[in-house]
Amino acid sequence: MADNKLYDILGVSRNASDGEIKKAYRRLAKEFHPDKNPEAGDTFKEISYAYEVLSDPKKRQTYDKYGLKGMQEGAQDGGFGADEIFSQLFGGSLFGGFMGGGGMRRRHKGEDTVHPLRVTLEDLYNGKTAKLQLSKNVICATCAGKGSKSGNTTTCRACKGCGLKVTFRQLGPGMTQQMQSRCPDCQGEGEIINEKDRCAACKGKKVCNETKILEVHVDKGMPDGQKIYFRGEGDQQPDIEPGDVVIILQQKPHEKFQRSGNDLHMQQTISLTEALCGFSTVVRQLDGRELLIKQPPGDVIKPGDTKTVPGEGMPQYKNPFEKGNLYVTFDITFPSNHFANERQLKVLESILPPRPQFTMPVGEHVEEVDLHDYDPNDRSSHSGRSEAYESDDEHIHSGPGVQCTHQ
Ligand SMILES: [Zn+2]
Ligand SMILES: [Zn+2]
Repeated sequence: MADNKLYDILGVSRNASDGEIKKAYRRLAKEFHPDKNPEAGDTFKEISYAYEVLSDPKKRQTYDKYGLKGMQEGAQDGGFGADEIFSQLFGGSLFGGFMGGGGMRRRHKGEDTVHPLRVTLEDLYNGKTAKLQLSKNVICATCAGKGSKSGNTTTCRACKGCGLKVTFRQLGPGMTQQMQSRCPDCQGEGEIINEKDRCAACKGKKVCNETKILEVHVDKGMPDGQKIYFRGEGDQQPDIEPGDVVIILQQKPHEKFQRSGNDLHMQQTISLTEALCGFSTVVRQLDGRELLIKQPPGDVIKPGDTKTVPGEGMPQYKNPFEKGNLYVTFDITFPSNHFANERQLKVLESILPPRPQFTMPVGEHVEEVDLHDYDPNDRSSHSGRSEAYESDDEHIHSGPGVQCTHQ
């Protein structure tokens, strides 16, 4: 299964030209060079490795076809603890998923192929079957995975069958790393199939690419991040048990509901009239039912109040008849200015609870001030004042309200 990691490391596309790759490498190498950026040592090694592979047409071709996994296997099959190089290079971060934490572990099972599957909240509420098209490697049926017509191979002369090539690489001033990379002549196989003897169906690669449709059953109530396994459906390779295909559900955000476990949360805006005098509203549930919500007159709803609708949350996974709750949090729209005349307001006031007592203060310290609408975008009052403070001519800019007696 091919991947994009090395392209991602350099931040270039799969079809990037050699020039683009070189440019990206130079820029990143400068940025993450250990001299400049000692913390980024591993990043720099990753960048160097990505460039080493992608700048070499042969290696790039191999990588494009088989991905990092292919590069790793090529090295690993030859022994020499070559997987150490990989874990050292990528600090386990790139291979963490595949290697299962085993540094020196020999693999008898192929790696898992992980695919995200985006699903809606409706899908997770109702359940659904999604068809997912995958491309995977299968053992070539024509040659039964031998790669040759005759079933014979010869040992690679370049690497004497070990599949590895040792090179030295300058990582930085005074830093050289010994690199074991896979033998370019045999692609790390250690053996070569005579060109004339190559299986025509797989061109000697032993595997063919095949498109496969998987039916993914998304069950009611599955959580975001749920893994669904297809055992043994991963890429096939000769003499290795294929890994699994792992589908990971990714729940898309919903425009109305937020999910929290099995509960659903939503916001509802109602008018002040509804908040005070009761209301009826309809909420469309994820299965299409219209939930009629009624609040009787006299039960007042305040801004920010939350009410519960029991049993209208998400179904429980594996127990879908049990459901969580739906929580509705209310926002209240108040009427606009001058929605009623003075006489009507007097009537309204006679109905509403009485005002708190107000006692007018007396004396010279009492000053009546103005209350203006606040507009956060209107900065005139602030900027006007700061100009006056920044100025050297204190008195010229002082407005009529500024007192200068203390200066
Ligand atoms: Zn074949
Ligand atoms: Zn070789």
